[in-house]
Amino acid sequence: MARLGCIADDFTGATDLANNLVRAGMRVVQLIGVPTDAERSSLGAGLTDCDAIVVALKSRTIEPAAAVEQSLAACDWLLGCGVEQIYFKYCSTFDSTPKGNIGPVIDALCKHLNAPFTIATPAFPDNHRSVFMGHLFVGEQLLSDSGMKNHPLTPMTDSNLVRVLQSQSSSRVGLISSAVVRKGSAEIANAMMRLQADGIQSAIVDAITNEDLLHIGKASKGLRLVTAGSGLAIGLPQNWNIAPNDRSAALPTAAGRSAIISGSCSLATNAQVADFIARGGRALAVDAMRVAAGQPVVQQALSWAHGQPSDAPILIYSTAESGAIRAVQSELGVEAAGQMIEKTLADIARELVGAGVGRLVVAGGETSGACVASLGIKLMQIGPQIDPGVPWCYAQSEHGGVHIALKSGNFGTTDFFTKAFAMLD
Ligand code: ADP
Repeated sequence: MARLGCIADDFTGATDLANNLVRAGMRVVQLIGVPTDAERSSLGAGLTDCDAIVVALKSRTIEPAAAVEQSLAACDWLLGCGVEQIYFKYCSTFDSTPKGNIGPVIDALCKHLNAPFTIATPAFPDNHRSVFMGHLFVGEQLLSDSGMKNHPLTPMTDSNLVRVLQSQSSSRVGLISSAVVRKGSAEIANAMMRLQADGIQSAIVDAITNEDLLHIGKASKGLRLVTAGSGLAIGLPQNWNIAPNDRSAALPTAAGRSAIISGSCSLATNAQVADFIARGGRALAVDAMRVAAGQPVVQQALSWAHGQPSDAPILIYSTAESGAIRAVQSELGVEAAGQMIEKTLADIARELVGAGVGRLVVAGGETSGACVASLGIKLMQIGPQIDPGVPWCYAQSEHGGVHIALKSGNFGTTDFFTKAFAMLD
């Protein structure tokens, strides 16, 4: 039976959290959105045979009222699964707008869970995010000096998280500083009680090292709600006597053909596509202009795939460099071009799995969302990590079981595609 119920405010962030929980020893399943009652009964054993459930929402930048509504629905659903603690997961750079949604969701969850106090710690030292005196650092830079100051949707221009969260929250926000955290879990728990007695609902908690996160995790044992980036995940399983082990990442044996669908145009993915081709990998480029012209691109990709040796991984990609993308975007519009290519790649992914692909790597956050939806995947069992933030997963699709790895654009080493399949072998 699951003990920990997690609500993540975006899709790849959910996988990042699930990956960290697995590495800390939990068996984890990730759900795409809140299941309906009918879906719940079809998910069956997947939901009971795990230690943590992560519900992936897409609530980071939507209207605060909608984010609250979706988060409360996810919370109720997780409580219905019998979880003992709720973990609200946001980005390790505290991505939010002046309206929220971190503050409004924390306020609503505290009220809903009757939780008088919670913590807020986005620190993730393994990923170079640390919090000191309430200030968030990205590597050696303050958050407000980092690239996050120019983020198109959630520009972060204040590094003082106490101030940021206070501006979004209707309750008082406090701080548990590094000096306390370093003294260990008992001191942190005392500080939590003192702050709560002073009428403070949530506290930013400093963390610079993994050891800090382990202390904070232990001190959080009695909290009904914790809120954090994915880093805190390493500190919670110990509260249920769960430690890192070989079994948590076990997946069924992989079978079927191997394929990669790549719709990410990030620098990292461009390099990964080039590396796969340079190694002699079989690859087919999808031309956006041909899709726009109504050419039968999906059918052509499928017949190309059928012509390849069944033991060779194949790559089908729209990945391109910025000049080519801009040309397509100026012709079709940014959003229309993106959606059209996502749909084409998702159709190809569904047909490939229907035709016997059993190991699928998808590159690109939005592309992954489109492929998972098109495959009818609702639940993913989280397996071993390929590269930080990207685990192999196992899911039931409309065409049966499939091993799937969803790589957000900038993740993964240059040889990611080759490495991913070698791991399953
Ligand atoms: P990332 O994780 O790198 O941001 P996403 O999949 O989230 O990748 O986003 C990439 C976007 O670019 C998608 O909407 C995709 O459909 C679009 N896209 C992919 N290839 C092209 C292309 N050749 N021209 C224009 N847009 C493209």
